[in-house]
Amino acid sequence: MNAPVNVKPRGRQFFNNPGPTNIPDRILRAMDRPVMDFLAPEFLEIQRACMAGVKRILKTDQNLFIHASTGHGAWEAAVANLFSPGETVLVVETGYFSLGWKEMGETLGLKVETLPADWRKGVDISKLAERLAKDKAHEIKAVFAVHNETATGMVLPLAEVRRAIDEARHPALLLSDTISSLGSMDYKMDAWGVDVTVGGSQKGLMMPTGMALTGVSDKAMEASRTSKMPKYYFNWELMNARKPQRFIGTVPVHFFFGLHESITMLEEEGLDAVFARHARLAEATRAAVRAWGANGKGPTLYGQTPDRLSNSVTTVLMPEGVSSDGLRKAALERYNLSLGGGLGPLMGKVFRIGHLGDLNEPMLLGCLATTELAMTTAGVPFAKGGVDAAIESLAGRA
Ligand code: PLP
Repeated sequence: MNAPVNVKPRGRQFFNNPGPTNIPDRILRAMDRPVMDFLAPEFLEIQRACMAGVKRILKTDQNLFIHASTGHGAWEAAVANLFSPGETVLVVETGYFSLGWKEMGETLGLKVETLPADWRKGVDISKLAERLAKDKAHEIKAVFAVHNETATGMVLPLAEVRRAIDEARHPALLLSDTISSLGSMDYKMDAWGVDVTVGGSQKGLMMPTGMALTGVSDKAMEASRTSKMPKYYFNWELMNARKPQRFIGTVPVHFFFGLHESITMLEEEGLDAVFARHARLAEATRAAVRAWGANGKGPTLYGQTPDRLSNSVTTVLMPEGVSSDGLRKAALERYNLSLGGGLGPLMGKVFRIGHLGDLNEPMLLGCLATTELAMTTAGVPFAKGGVDAAIESLAGRA
């Protein structure tokens, strides 16, 4: 990198982490108001509207719980409410976050088997059907699937996962993590036969970090009645019994003010338009990355299965022997652009461009152009033309 320059960043930071994401001023303003009693009719109406709105985004008519926690809390809620210590579940390996959910399950006392997969290609779903077909005694109680693996930038087609479970005539529940796809990519909880969906506030919902949700099918509610895992704060039955607020402890009213605005914004734009915008921005990002690597020396797309590349985050593989640290440092410290780093074994080997949430074409082009600038500053080899390729893509000419 060039000698450090004493620059004080000015202007807005360009924030392209794959979560948390930019919080729109409208949501900040909606939360900037005096507190309210969480049992007041005015608040209960806001909370009711939020619950209904989240169900519309999840595309479910079944049960929903909202927690004051990050996504990890909703992961834990799912495990603690559905199972008993010693039971077996199967995690479909997608990357860092699938292994995190596995670690949590093991820590809480489950026997967790992994269906292994190449992180760059994604799992071969026929292997899931094969594994389940072998489980004649139905020891596997559930399949855990991360819909959008934020570490690799790859999607797991949940409808195909459900088909594999059904074809094996297996009664396993399907648990899905939609933390980095909710509100960015279409999600059809009921149509896809998902039993439990775990989501968080700080990505596609454009909210501060600290609110999580769990969508629960009637079948999963039934299964939760025999669970022996210890639980209290995340106990769904206890939550349901705390009427009318359905919350253990103080309800975080400001989060609900923000969530209400988030749902309003998503629905004003129209969910299909939101998903189409994410698809456009993602395709432009991929076009830029393909151009950077076109000389055979530059960064390339980490994901190798084109129809599984995520529309909310792109994971970019650095050239052999070049760490992503210098590039990310230059981007942040010199140019005030925040990019995501690699997680777990991908640390230093990749960087991640988040293109989800409150983002438009100029913001994305600013990010891509500044990434080129930071690559130049950090001495990363790359082919020119990434921004041009993104422009062609956005203009519909690619
Ligand atoms: N699952 C996925 C796919 C994620 O991207 C994340 C966070 O980035 C998590 C789980 C963990 O969520 P949280 O950080 O909100 O606890």
